[in-house]
Amino acid sequence: MRAADLEPLEPYPGSSAPWRCRHTTCGREVTPRLSNVTTGQRGCVYCSGRARIDPDAAAAVMRAAGLEPLEPYPGSDRKWRCRHLACGREVTPTYVRINSGSGPCRWCAPNAPVDPAVAAADMRAAGLEPLTPYPGVDTPWPVRCRACGAPGTPTLGSIRRGQGGCYPCGRRKANASMRHDAETAAAVMRAAGLEPLEPYLGTAFPWKSRCTKCGAIVSPRLCSLAGRSRRAACKRCADRANGEAQRHDEDLAVAEMREHGFEPQEPYRGVKHPGACATAAAPSPHRPSAPSSPARADADAAPTSAPPPHDGKTPTAPPPPCAKPASSPWSPTPRP
Ligand SMILES: [Zn+2]
Ligand SMILES: [Zn+2]
Ligand SMILES: [Zn+2]
Ligand SMILES: [Zn+2]
Repeated sequence: MRAADLEPLEPYPGSSAPWRCRHTTCGREVTPRLSNVTTGQRGCVYCSGRARIDPDAAAAVMRAAGLEPLEPYPGSDRKWRCRHLACGREVTPTYVRINSGSGPCRWCAPNAPVDPAVAAADMRAAGLEPLTPYPGVDTPWPVRCRACGAPGTPTLGSIRRGQGGCYPCGRRKANASMRHDAETAAAVMRAAGLEPLEPYLGTAFPWKSRCTKCGAIVSPRLCSLAGRSRRAACKRCADRANGEAQRHDEDLAVAEMREHGFEPQEPYRGVKHPGACATAAAPSPHRPSAPSSPARADADAAPTSAPPPHDGKTPTAPPPPCAKPASSPWSPTPRP
């Protein structure tokens, strides 16, 4: 049994009885019969391809090894057409080999024998001209960039794993895409009425800008100006628009109060705020919708044990009501 890579897990049961063993190659527990193993049958049903394997589970094993199956599961010991995602090449490993831990791709294996002509063709496809004979897959290979002429020493392995060939060309490409991002970002800011004052750092960074309407300096994040939870680009302009909407409300409210015979005595503060009014009949101020204030009643009636000091500066009259709206029903976010 050990010659067939099977480690017995229980005493010998007889040559024609199932014998619990571990297949040391794959680690699975199996129950071969000694009589079968001695006649040359493989002792592990999984590795021999005799066991039924769920095609989805088999595909998952291939994917875990970086392979994308290109055809339905053909059987555990049959060649299975797959794409090695790291290098893009088509390979035909068997499920059994991959499941036992073999490398997924003969092209990418570090010790893979590589045809020098194929190696040079791979380098040229990556835009690099080899300057010396093929040195090996993981040995730096002197090359010249076919686009810009810059020298370099990438390994064939790194090129096959998808790394860019020429460093200066890679940097130029990255800078170009960064410039494109910055131009797009500035266009979004200008559409929101802001002129950027410093270079673009990214959507999540505060970006110092000037409001083109009011001149205020603001630092919104680009991500807060776009998308669903859009914010006002300039708070000062938003507040101003807010105030205009409030004044519009106020005109309507005053007109409605007058219609009901009241003359507003203080600025409108919103529908839920009590406001002092004078009626045409009784000139004394009263609050039409509010209960009588207990604080005022206390101050009028009972003397307190410690009267407040009168130094002549303390105003006895309440301060004039603030003209600024305390709360605003206006919201810059449009309703869906
Ligand atoms: Zn096995
Ligand atoms: Zn590969
Ligand atoms: Zn280059
Ligand atoms: Zn503004």
